[in-house]
Amino acid sequence: MVPGARPLLIDAGVGHPDHLDALDDVLPQGASTVVVTHAHSDHASGAPILCDRWPAASFCKIPWPERDLAAVPWHAIGDGTVFETEQGPLQVLHTPGHAPDHLVLWHADTRTLFGADLLLAGTTVTIPARHGGDLSAYLASLRRIRALAPRVVLPAHGAVIHDAVGLIDRYLDHRQQREDQVLAALAEGRDTVESIASRIYVSLEPALVPLAREGVLAHLRKLADDGRVSVEGDAWQLRG
Ligand SMILES: [Zn+2]
Repeated sequence: MVPGARPLLIDAGVGHPDHLDALDDVLPQGASTVVVTHAHSDHASGAPILCDRWPAASFCKIPWPERDLAAVPWHAIGDGTVFETEQGPLQVLHTPGHAPDHLVLWHADTRTLFGADLLLAGTTVTIPARHGGDLSAYLASLRRIRALAPRVVLPAHGAVIHDAVGLIDRYLDHRQQREDQVLAALAEGRDTVESIASRIYVSLEPALVPLAREGVLAHLRKLADDGRVSVEGDAWQLRG
């Protein structure tokens, strides 16, 4: 980095005092740009505090008007926006699914992906169907990133991912298996999210039940997008 150059920060975190101290250590003059990858609170809720500290910085995200914090003067960006950095351009890729405004940043020179919540080493990503999640969009986002064949992915949570294509393939397999289970439950005559979830997730801790239901709903909506199921009220059924 050129001495005195002011870098770009990806995600604002939650504004915890320890995190702010750590930022002061590495960015004594602040960042010139803060790119928030999506409006979930663990990525965005620290933005107002950073905005107070760094009034000259520009706070950028893909808009999600229902969720974006009003205290921040957001600068709207979109798919294809490019940020010039000391290490070359960083390109915004809109990757909805986990959230409608979700983005990742692609550093083509090194084939490095700053992956936010698109991929997580060792686990799957939640698709909160009732809160902006969209499984069809998520699968399309995964396929788009797979085609780039990233050399390394730096996710917002957990370990660095060196085998992005393999992980994406496992995700796609997992979603296909889950879809097959949802279709089988529908074929048995189970027609509500609750009854399908209780068929698929047999001995789930109570605390995880809402998450399981969100996942089932995400699959049902994806199947509706595909024209394979229909819904009336809360009742889902296979189409002809
Ligand atoms: Zn998230």
